Amino acid sequence: VKSIGPDPDPTPYLYVTNEMKLKDLAKPYDAKKDCWIPHDHEGYIIGQITGTKGELVSVNALGMTNHWKKEQVSQVNPPKYEKTEDMSNLTFLNDPSVLYNLKCRYTSRLIYTYSGLFCIAVNPYKRYPIYTDRAAKIYMGKRRNEVPPHIFAISDNAYSDMLLNKTNQSMLITGESGAGKTENTKKVIAYFGSVAASAKKKPGDAKNLEDQIVETNPILEAFGNAKTVRNDNSSRFGKFIRIHFQVTGKLSGADIENYLLEKARIVSQGKLERSYHIFYNIMSNRLDYIRSMCKLTNDIYDYHYVSQGKVTVESIDDAEDMMFAHNAFDVLTFTEDERDDVYRVTASVMHMSNMKFKTRGREEQAEANGTEAGEIIAELFGVGMEDLYHNFCKPKIKVGAEFVTKGMNEERVLFNVCAMAKAIYDRNFKFLVKKCNQTLETGLRRIFFIGVLDIAGFEIFEFNGFEQLCINFTNEKLQQFFNHHMFVLEQEEYKREGIQWTFVDFGMDLQACIDLFEKPMGLLAIMEEESMFPKATDKTFEEKLTVNHLGKSQPFVKAKGNAHFGINHYAGTVNYNITGWLEKNKDPLNDTVVDQLKKGENHLLIEMFADHPGQSAPAEKAGPGDKGKKKSGGFKTVSSSYRDQLNNLMTTLNATQPHFIRCIVPNETKSPGLCDARLIMHQLTCNGVLEGIRICRKGFPNRMVYNDFRQRYVILALQEFNEYFDCKKASHACLEKVGLEAEKYRIGNTKVFFRAGVLGELEEIRDVVL
Ligand code: ADP
Ligand code: MG
Repeated sequence: VKSIGPDPDPTPYLYVTNEMKLKDLAKPYDAKKDCWIPHDHEGYIIGQITGTKGELVSVNALGMTNHWKKEQVSQVNPPKYEKTEDMSNLTFLNDPSVLYNLKCRYTSRLIYTYSGLFCIAVNPYKRYPIYTDRAAKIYMGKRRNEVPPHIFAISDNAYSDMLLNKTNQSMLITGESGAGKTENTKKVIAYFGSVAASAKKKPGDAKNLEDQIVETNPILEAFGNAKTVRNDNSSRFGKFIRIHFQVTGKLSGADIENYLLEKARIVSQGKLERSYHIFYNIMSNRLDYIRSMCKLTNDIYDYHYVSQGKVTVESIDDAEDMMFAHNAFDVLTFTEDERDDVYRVTASVMHMSNMKFKTRGREEQAEANGTEAGEIIAELFGVGMEDLYHNFCKPKIKVGAEFVTKGMNEERVLFNVCAMAKAIYDRNFKFLVKKCNQTLETGLRRIFFIGVLDIAGFEIFEFNGFEQLCINFTNEKLQQFFNHHMFVLEQEEYKREGIQWTFVDFGMDLQACIDLFEKPMGLLAIMEEESMFPKATDKTFEEKLTVNHLGKSQPFVKAKGNAHFGINHYAGTVNYNITGWLEKNKDPLNDTVVDQLKKGENHLLIEMFADHPGQSAPAEKAGPGDKGKKKSGGFKTVSSSYRDQLNNLMTTLNATQPHFIRCIVPNETKSPGLCDARLIMHQLTCNGVLEGIRICRKGFPNRMVYNDFRQRYVILALQEFNEYFDCKKASHACLEKVGLEAEKYRIGNTKVFFRAGVLGELEEIRDVVL
C-alpha cells in the first residue's frame, strides 16, 4: 500500500470515539413510544406512538399526529446501537434502522459498515487517510470482529481463509456507477501486493510482480475508462482479476478477465461526457512523438468521433495520465513496437472520423470523397489506401459458394467505417488485457487465488437496452449466488448448533427470472436464434418473445412506456426496449476490410483479428436450417460469448469462498458528507442488502452465546442461574420462566437464537424487573 508524504492517524476515520459514544448514549429514547415513520425527504423520521386502533397506529412527529398502517411503522433501536459496526446485531432489523445507521456513520466519516455478510462502503468523495501503510497495519492478521469495518479487513480475512482453509476466495464488489467499486478494487489489490509481496524489492527494480499487478490499472483505465455524467473516471467495462498465490501465501501471478467494453462511446458521446481517456492523453502532447508518429493535428476537434462532448475534465490531468500509461507499458514488458502499434491503432480510430464518401449518379454506389484521411489510416494500418476505399465501398460477399461484389451507398459505408472503428478499439482493448495476462504469467506455481470482481450493479433507467439486459442478468445470477451462499451458511450454523429448522433456499426465489433467460426457448436462446436468421427484425424478435413468454413465464410482463417488454427482476421491474438488439448482437463487420487488415503490415491488427474468420464467415443467405450452428472460425453473437463468460465466472465463483462488498453512492452531486435518503434506499434494495436482511428475518437473526445471555439476563432468573451449573440449561429455564413462546427462540448447543425483534421483548421484560 503506497503512502506518500506524512502518515496521518487513520483512527478517527475508523473508530467511533468515546466522545461520540457518550453523546449517542445520552440521546433520549423511549422503547415503547419511539418509532420510525416514512418521510419524503429524510426517508424516515422518528415519531412517538400515541395510540393504536385496529390496524392503524397514531404517531406524533414534528408536532403533528398522523395515522399509519402497522407495517409502515418500525421500531427504533436503543441508543447503545448508534453507529453500530455490524447491523446484523441490531435488535430491530428494519429498513429505517439500516438507513439511519449508515447515515450516522457516514456523516461521522466512517464509510465502512457491515450488514451480516455484506461490507457496505459509502463513497466519501474525499481522500481519507484510511488506505495508508499505517492503516493497513491495523488490519494485518486480524479477524473481522477485532477491528473496525474496512475493505482491508475483508481482504485480510480472505487471505487468511485462503491459507487456512486451502480454498480459493472471491471478493464481489458491486454498486452503481460512481459508487466506488474501482477505487475499492484498487485498494484490495494494493493490499495483497503489500501483504504477499513476492520478494524484497531491489532498489530501482521497477519490474517486480506486485508493481506489475498494480500497473495494469493505468493501462486498463486509460483505454477502458471515460468521463460520464456520474463519474469522471467511469470504468466502461467489467472485470474479474484473479491474484494467484504460491503455497506460502506469496504472490505468484495474476490474470484479468474483462467483460463487454462499451463500444458506442468510441464514436459518439453525450454533451457532458467524453470518450476513452487515452485519446485525450495522446492529444495532450506530453509525448510529442506519438502525435507525429500518428499524424495527428493539435486540435481534438479535427476528430469528430472523439469530440462530441467534453474534451477536458477538471479532475483529470491528461498529460500526467499519458505518462502513467506510457510507463505502465514498460513495467508490463510491452515491447516498444507493441506499444507504438497500440498508439497507432488508437489514433487510426480518430482518423477514421474523417473518411469521406460521396454517391454519384443513380446507382447508389458510394465512392471516396478525398483520400486525405485514408492515406494516413492506410499507413497506420500498413495496407494499401486504394484497396481500403475499394473494400469499404465494394465489399465482396459470399452468396452460396460464390463471391460477388456488393454495392454500398454512402450511409451504409459510413456505418461500416463506424463499426470497424469500434471493433478495432474493442479488439485493441482485449489485446492489452491479453498482453498483461501474459506478463503476469510468471511461471511461479499458482496454488490459490483471490478473485476480485468489479462489475456494474443493477441498472434501472428510463431507457433500458441490450447493455442493461446483460448487466441485470449478471446481477440476478450474482444475487442468486449470494442468497444461496447465505442459505448454506445459515443451514450449516443451525446444524452445528443442533437446531430444528429447515431454512428455505432463497436462491430459488430468483430461479424463475433466471430460467426466463436461460432455458431452451428462453430470452437468450430466442435472441441468438433471431440473430442467426437473416430475415429476422426487431418486430419478429419482439413477437417471438411475447408469444413464448407473455402469460407463460411469470417474470415476463407487458412493457410500460417506451419499451417492448418488462422483466420482474428481484431488484424491481425493468422495461426493456429492444430496438437494434439483433444488429448489436450480430455486430457485423465488413469482412473484406477485415481480410485486408489481416494481410497488412500492422502486427497488432493481424494479431487482434486472428480469431476473426474474415471472408470465410458464413454466407449471407444462410437458411434457417443453419441456425445455431457455429461455423468453423467461430462466428459468435455478443450475447452468446457473454453467456459463456458469465457461465465461466459463475463456475469459478461457485468453487470459491465469497466475500461481498456493496458500494453506495451517497448523493448525485459528489458532495462529501451529504446523504440522499431515497438514492441510498434504492441502492440498498438493488444491491441485495435489504434482501439479505429479509432472509435473515425469516430465520433466527439474533444469537447470543450462553455466557453473554447469562450476563445480560441473569436478573430475570436468579434462582435458575444459581440452581443449574450448566449455563445452557439455566438460560432455557430462564426463557421459559419469563413466558416467551417457544416459537420465538431456539436453544442451540452453544448459543441461543432469537426471532427478529424478540431481543427487544426480552429487554422490555428486563427493564420492568430492574
Ligand atoms: P465506480 O467504479 O463504482 O463507478 P469509482 O471507484 O470510479 O466508482 O469512484 C468514483 C469516484 O469517487 C472516484 O474517482 C473518487 O473520486 C471517488 N471515490 C470512490 N471511492 C472512494 C474512496 N474510498 N475514497 C475517496 N474517494 C473515493
Ligand atoms: Mg468503475
